Amino acid sequence: MLSRLFCRTLKKAKNPPETDSKPSEQQQRVNSSDGASTTRAPLAEERKKETKKKRSFWRLFCCCKRKHRVSPLCDDDTQPSDEHRRRFPNPAQMCYMNSSIQSLLTLKDFVRDVSSQENMLRQCPEAVLARRFMEIVRCRYSEDALRKLLLLMRFKRVLSVQASEFKGPGCKDAHEFLSAVIGQIQRLASPTQTMAVSVGGNYTCPVSSSLTFQMQNTRTCKGCGAQSITVEDFCNLSLDIIPRGSVQGMLQMYQKETQLEYSCKCGGNTSDHYSRFLTLPKYLMLHLKRFKFTKDLKILKLRDPINICDELMDEGLYSLISVINHFGSTVNDGHYVSEGLHPDEVLDGRPERWLHYDDKDVFETSRTVVRKWRQRTCYVLFYQRQRCNMNSSLLSLLTLKEVVRDVSSQENVLRQCPEAELARCGAQSITVEDFSSLSLDLIPCTRRG
Ligand SMILES: [Zn+2]
Repeated sequence: MLSRLFCRTLKKAKNPPETDSKPSEQQQRVNSSDGASTTRAPLAEERKKETKKKRSFWRLFCCCKRKHRVSPLCDDDTQPSDEHRRRFPNPAQMCYMNSSIQSLLTLKDFVRDVSSQENMLRQCPEAVLARRFMEIVRCRYSEDALRKLLLLMRFKRVLSVQASEFKGPGCKDAHEFLSAVIGQIQRLASPTQTMAVSVGGNYTCPVSSSLTFQMQNTRTCKGCGAQSITVEDFCNLSLDIIPRGSVQGMLQMYQKETQLEYSCKCGGNTSDHYSRFLTLPKYLMLHLKRFKFTKDLKILKLRDPINICDELMDEGLYSLISVINHFGSTVNDGHYVSEGLHPDEVLDGRPERWLHYDDKDVFETSRTVVRKWRQRTCYVLFYQRQRCNMNSSLLSLLTLKEVVRDVSSQENVLRQCPEAELARCGAQSITVEDFSSLSLDLIPCTRRG
């Protein structure tokens, strides 16, 4: 029965409706006010019949959970709550994809940035993946399991044109999936920008505005002290696991000075190396290296408990908003679920309300529960820059702190002045040129503190 249904869905997918065709009534409802119903309600009897039919499909969509049950089952016959409407079908090991997409949908500004560029994306033939993503965004509250499945399969098919590892069934790595999605959307920037210019518009890459950041790598020869500085773009960082360590600790470990082999002109062959944030993204995606290869090339899963920090960096600059978890011992055998900040919540004041996304089961949970029970399973974490700290001067200053370290004797002053103090000073839009005058402002500021 399941395979028959699945085949029928795939057959249907061969003639997909035109991407940019007129949105259905359901889509229009979702478009109009993010879920609030504005269209005429169908007759109660008709609607009841339709809902019953749709619900019966959902019963079939719970593939890998039979082996890895991580949540209580929801009763399909109860009236779906708003949370429940966000569920995704999973007829064939799609949990890695469902969890990843649910986490991406938690990044409200990222979704908004893609939506706001939709007009340009629609006109660019290369931008199919971004258009498919928007179809999922529009359909996320739909109770139509088959339509959701169709859109998810179409998204996966487009992604796998350039990332063949996602072709075909089977569970894949959620981090690799997210990296492929983000990387491909990022690569759309160039053709879409060109197209936008040709029609007198403009296009800003949603990945660049939400997820990309720069790290500055500094290498110093131990022999002669010669320094080499390179700047690298990232969309996420992969952190080594420190057993019983914290996410903050692992992030610090990433930036810690290490020694590496490097043949210098002076004849020396050891250098010191460290990385620092040069810019900070709106959303910081962190991947924990829970899988490692053994000597005989078997994949070993590390289940060490990790302290999932609520906040990261100085002054709690970043707040935790989503966690993707992996259950099971191997990538191919496991099950993914994701948890994220409740869409009705705003970040100010550490909101407790979160949602748990486990394919067709979506229910309310709390930040405390996630932090307590996901220590051994957390795999990909998303942190959002706090709104109260989004002051551009603070960010510029954090950036400057790193640049200035190498070029200016004012570093000492900066180090003594906590960022929040600076923000209170009301220093606005600091640039590198402004640095000398800024440091004068800093002195009274530190004295006051
Ligand atoms: Zn040297």
